[in-house]
Amino acid sequence: MEKMATRQNAVINHPQTSDSKRVTLNYTQNPQGDNLEFTTKKGLFRKIKARLESLSKLPYLRKDKNKEELSEVLLKKGVQRRDFMKWAAVITTSLGLPASFAPLTARAAELAGRVPIIWLHMAECTGCSESLLRSEDPGIDSIIFDYVSMEYHETIMAASGYQAEKSLEDAVKTYSGRYIMMVEGGIPKNTEYFLTVGAHGRTGAEECRHVAEHAAAIFAIGTCSSFGGVQAAAPNPTNAQPLTEIISKRVINIPGCPPSEKNIVGALIHYILFQELPAVDAFNRPKWAYGHRIHDLCERRGHFDAGEFVQSFGDENATKGFCLYKVGCKGPYTFNNCSKLRFNSHTNWPIGAGHGCIGCSEPNFWDTMSPFEVPLGNRYQTAFSGAGADRTADTVGIVLLGVTAIGIAAHAALSGVIKPK
Ligand code: SF4
Ligand code: SF4
Repeated sequence: MEKMATRQNAVINHPQTSDSKRVTLNYTQNPQGDNLEFTTKKGLFRKIKARLESLSKLPYLRKDKNKEELSEVLLKKGVQRRDFMKWAAVITTSLGLPASFAPLTARAAELAGRVPIIWLHMAECTGCSESLLRSEDPGIDSIIFDYVSMEYHETIMAASGYQAEKSLEDAVKTYSGRYIMMVEGGIPKNTEYFLTVGAHGRTGAEECRHVAEHAAAIFAIGTCSSFGGVQAAAPNPTNAQPLTEIISKRVINIPGCPPSEKNIVGALIHYILFQELPAVDAFNRPKWAYGHRIHDLCERRGHFDAGEFVQSFGDENATKGFCLYKVGCKGPYTFNNCSKLRFNSHTNWPIGAGHGCIGCSEPNFWDTMSPFEVPLGNRYQTAFSGAGADRTADTVGIVLLGVTAIGIAAHAALSGVIKPK
């Protein structure tokens, strides 16, 4: 029988839009094997390409770098095109996109100089900025972040006092409705005057509310702006709060202490590609970055499963690369992609270097995950009220956590972690 092309309608859940958003598509099933996935991918590819083309028509915003294209900047820093494309491939797959979309990711990075960003500092150590900007041997993420149109960032701008305030106002006014707001640091609430900023002594909360009002997208960068951070640790004397407690607009959290540069730059690239906010978990973290537990992809996981643990730092088991759970690793309770993307140009990460994860991308980790070198399993029932205040992002995560908790309990019992009362 002769094969005939058939046209159908399909309704799918789009993986890169909010869960509730459903997209209706027409697609053709034909003898060449075109299928829903292929046509959907193609449609998405075209859609993104069209967005990028329209973005490319917007004026280049950076005033201080002789309007150099990103390719020129990268070459000057010794980064070859091939390395840049490899970087684009990593970001593309991290965002959950097909590998064939890598050229679009590369193009989005090249267009980052057309997207205005306002970065606010609240109560924090500036570690998130520092980790991104002060690298002696900057990776591609750092170079791209140096390349974006940063309209206001107190750490790197020359202006201060009234001049700095004017820069902020000018940026808000000029790019109203277009700029991305990024906030680093916790923000005192009610006791707002614990944090004042600028020549007029505006409170941090006032500044956030003002800038948020005209922002196109808002990102809380680091655990402090996402969840309060160290200044919100008990007894939280300044009543520091996450950005979500200060403003009423939607906030995407990029937690970490500091967050990985790939997660910060990835959030920016995602926004440039889609011009909409990503699907998030229960703590408003993008699922593409915080969808898996550290434990799930950890290189020491085989040792955990085999019950092979480092008993104390520097022991023989440590030299064998055994699991760090018994010296306090919080990887089983922590959602982040460090085990996959690592740090310092993918060279290493904390667990690779021999210290357990301290859970830095989880809410209230200073209180709930410390002491950092003691296993949490010993006090699982008390610290987390049994069910788990580290309750995972979604149902799947909850189930996984339950399985992990059982695994941990079994390992603890077998290896004598729980001391007899
Ligand atoms: S407990 Fe920590 S070190 Fe051990 S496998 Fe899990 S994440 Fe890796
Ligand atoms: S390994 Fe854990 S503590 Fe270290 S950066 Fe990743 S989430 Fe944070």
